[in-house]
Amino acid sequence: MSFILFLGIAFCGIVSCVLLSYILISYNDRHLFDVTRKQLSDYSEGLSYDIARTGFPSGSDTTVAEQLYLLAENYHGRVLILDGSLQVCFDSYRTKNGKTVVAPEILEAVAEKTHFSYDEESKSATYVRVLPSVTGSKENTIFFMRYDMSSEWSRYQTSRRYIMMIALCLSIIIFTLAIVLAVVFTRPLRRINRALTEIGNGKFDERVEVRSNRQVADISDSVNQILERTHEMVENRQNFVSDVSHELKTPMTSMKILADALLNSGEELPPMVHEFLTDINSEIDRENHIISDLLALARMDRKTDTIQYARTHINEILDVILNRVAPLAESKEVEVVCESYRDIYADVDEPKMITAITNIVENAILYNRPNGSVYVTLNANMTYFFVTVRDTGNGIAESEIAHIFERFYRVDKDRSRETGGTGLGLAITKDIINAHGGQIKVYSKINEGTTFSVRVPLAKPVRNGGKA
Ligand code: ADP
Repeated sequence: MSFILFLGIAFCGIVSCVLLSYILISYNDRHLFDVTRKQLSDYSEGLSYDIARTGFPSGSDTTVAEQLYLLAENYHGRVLILDGSLQVCFDSYRTKNGKTVVAPEILEAVAEKTHFSYDEESKSATYVRVLPSVTGSKENTIFFMRYDMSSEWSRYQTSRRYIMMIALCLSIIIFTLAIVLAVVFTRPLRRINRALTEIGNGKFDERVEVRSNRQVADISDSVNQILERTHEMVENRQNFVSDVSHELKTPMTSMKILADALLNSGEELPPMVHEFLTDINSEIDRENHIISDLLALARMDRKTDTIQYARTHINEILDVILNRVAPLAESKEVEVVCESYRDIYADVDEPKMITAITNIVENAILYNRPNGSVYVTLNANMTYFFVTVRDTGNGIAESEIAHIFERFYRVDKDRSRETGGTGLGLAITKDIINAHGGQIKVYSKINEGTTFSVRVPLAKPVRNGGKA
C-alpha cells in the first residue's frame, strides 16, 4: 500500500515536473527567435515606405543606407537589398553591390514572401522578406539579413540548463516527499496491522490504539469491539475446557485407583475380566494424559502458569530427555543420536522446557520407520540456543505443516491413535517455546523425514515479564 502510494505521488509529481519543464523549454525556444524576427519584420515594413519616399538606392537621400548600416552593426550582421532580378543594390559589407545573388533562402522568400532560418553551427539567423509594395516603391524589393545570434544562443542555453536543474531539484523534492507522505499516511495502517498480527498470535488482550484521524479511529474502535467479543468467547472456551478437565480429573483418578486396586488385589481374576481391566486401565491412562495436557494448555492460556526462569544447563536437559525417551526408542527400533557443540546455559523453566523438547523427540521416534534415526543437535550463538530434531520418518505433507501446532490436530488419525497421540503435544510445545520468547519451525519432505528447529533466547525476555 505504501509503495503504491509512493509510486502514485512520485509518478504524478515527476510527470508534472517533466511536462512543466518541457513547456518552459519550448516557450524559451520560440521566444529566442520570435523577438528578433518580430523586430526585423516591423523594421522591414517601415523600410518599404522609406524606400518609396527617398527613391533608395538611386535617390540622393542617404538616410535609408545609414539606417541599414546601423541595423547591420547593431545586429552584428550583414544586410542586403536586392531588386526584382535578384541584383544587389545595397550590401552593408559593400562587396556584392551590383552582383546577382541566388541563395536558396532568397528563392524561398520570393516564393513564400518571407524566410527565416537558424544555423546552429555558425549560430547565425537569416531573415529574408519581399518588401510589401507601397505607392511609389519598386516591385519585389528583397530585404536580406544574416545576423549573429551567439549571445542569445548562450543565454538561451543557460536558461535551458536552469529549467532542467530546477526540474531535477523539484523531482528530487517530490521523490523525497512521496516517500515521507507514503510512510506518514500508511503509518496508522501499519500500526493497526502490527496490533492485529499480535492479536493473531493469540494476544487477545492487545488493543488497537491508533487515532491519527477519524476514519482510522473508527477502524480501531470496530476492531477493538470485535476483539472484546472474541476475547470473551476465548475466555469462556478456556474456562469451559479447564472446568471440564478439572471435573473429569477427580473421577478418572478414582477409577484409576480402583482399577489398579482390582488388578493388584492378588486375587485370581477370570482371564476375560483381567484382560478387560487391563484395557480399562490403559484407557484411563490415556484419558488422564489428555486431561493433563488440556489442563496444562488451559493454565498457559489463562496465564495462571508463570514461567519460572532459572539458569539451566541445557545440555543436561537434553540428557534427561534422551534418557526418558530411550525405552520408547528401543521399542520402536529407532536410534537416537545427540550432538551438542558446547556447554550452554540459559534462563528457562526447566520442567516446561523438558516437556516441550520431549514432545518433539518423542514424535520423531513415534513417526519414524523401524531402524530409522533421530538426530538431535544443540548449539547457540550470543543470543539464542538452538535445538534441532531431525528424523528419517515419513515426513509431513506441505498442506498439513501449517496445522500440526493446532490443538487436537493429527495428520494421520488412525496412525496417531495407534501411537497413542492426543494431538495436543505440539500445541503445548509451541505455547511453551513462545512463552520463553522463542520460535519453533518445521521443515519436512514426504518419505525423507522432518526437522523441527527450536530457537530460544539465552536470557529471560524482558517484554512478557516472565508470564507464560
Ligand atoms: P500427537 O499427540 O498426535 O503426536 P502432536 O501435536 O504431537 O500430536 O502432533 C500433531 C501431529 O503432527 C501428529 O499427529 C503427527 O501426525 C504430526 N507429526 C508431529 N511430529 C511429526 C514427525 N516428526 N513426523 C511426522 N509427523 C509428525
